[in-house]
Amino acid sequence: MSDYEGEGLLTIDLGAIAENYTRMRARLKNGSECGAVVKADAYGLGAAKVAPVLYRVGCRTFFAATRQEGEQLRALLPEDVRIFLLTGVRRGCERACAEAGLIPVLVTPAQVQRWIEATGELDGGGLAAPSALKLDSGMTRLGMGTEELAELLAQPALLQRANLQLVLSHLACADENGHAQNDAQLATFTGALAQLRRICPQLPASFANSSAICLGEAYHFDLVRPGCALYGVNPTPSEPNPMRPVVSLRLPVLQLRRVSHDSAVGYGATQFAAAGSWLAVVRGGYADGILRAQSGRGCGVALAGDERVVVPMMGRVSMDTTVFDISALSEAQRARLEVIELLGDSVTVDDMGAAAGTIGYEILTSLGRRYSRRYL
Ligand SMILES: *Cc1c(COP(=O)(O)O)cnc(C)c1O
Repeated sequence: MSDYEGEGLLTIDLGAIAENYTRMRARLKNGSECGAVVKADAYGLGAAKVAPVLYRVGCRTFFAATRQEGEQLRALLPEDVRIFLLTGVRRGCERACAEAGLIPVLVTPAQVQRWIEATGELDGGGLAAPSALKLDSGMTRLGMGTEELAELLAQPALLQRANLQLVLSHLACADENGHAQNDAQLATFTGALAQLRRICPQLPASFANSSAICLGEAYHFDLVRPGCALYGVNPTPSEPNPMRPVVSLRLPVLQLRRVSHDSAVGYGATQFAAAGSWLAVVRGGYADGILRAQSGRGCGVALAGDERVVVPMMGRVSMDTTVFDISALSEAQRARLEVIELLGDSVTVDDMGAAAGTIGYEILTSLGRRYSRRYL
């Protein structure tokens, strides 16, 4: 237990992330470029470690959410990368954004106007610093709707000065292959793209997140934006995961106890351990990202030497600790038990997400800061 020092051990397999990137890229048939989404600190796994690895396997286009994230990436990566900011640029920050070499994704005609006004003189020629445009093709989140796009299309000079590097849109139901909204959004995006290209003929387009890459070539366009799949989340939830698992989380056992009489376990006394059962209390709770919503439903894998036994959680997850029912272990296994694996090959981030009524993405971005982190 030396490398745990009493805390949980979170292992992040950078080799698996690199391989997941090349697997995603291998699905692209028509010369489409494979970018990478590293927002939210690379989905909680550490952008400072992840982004350079992706660069090394050939990624040259990165997507962050905020300007702070973009600036961190800029400092980390060579000059020849493009960094897009998915949540755009705040009013008044345009110049700082351009000077940091970051490309904001603009979502209203007014933002396009301001981007040109703020950055148009930086190169003396009136052309704005590089920018990108996001269209809402049906998700009704960020992006221009039909009317706003029409407003822009009516000002071709403005569009040309905006120095657009990319037009993108995002699917709401890409993880449900066959969902009618996928085709509908594809048709809307294709139509809008044709209109934009009458004014900006070479404008590259990007539509696909991880799941949409798996929907097939029609969704790939010029550049794809995988995020979750790089980090091991299954982009095709109705089929086996084509990605390699990336994280493993092992929590040290603080106390083993034999229950002498039927006993309520944990806050709220929500579950009972029968007399004679064995419990393991591990270090790691909801403050560490073991979401409390999975209380009574989640499971882990007890590691006893080389033997692995799936064990259910017992009672509510606490802030710092979680209890498992390890009655399935033999006495010899119990004697060797030092850690319980919460995430790994057996229990994936998707499994834990399902147990907590959420998704693997939220499991990753909730991973706590108290673990020892080890990168492979
Ligand atoms: C987060 C995000 C992605 C990546 O999506 P995944 O489902 O994680 O692959 C792509 N595009 C946009 C606009 C996003 O916000």
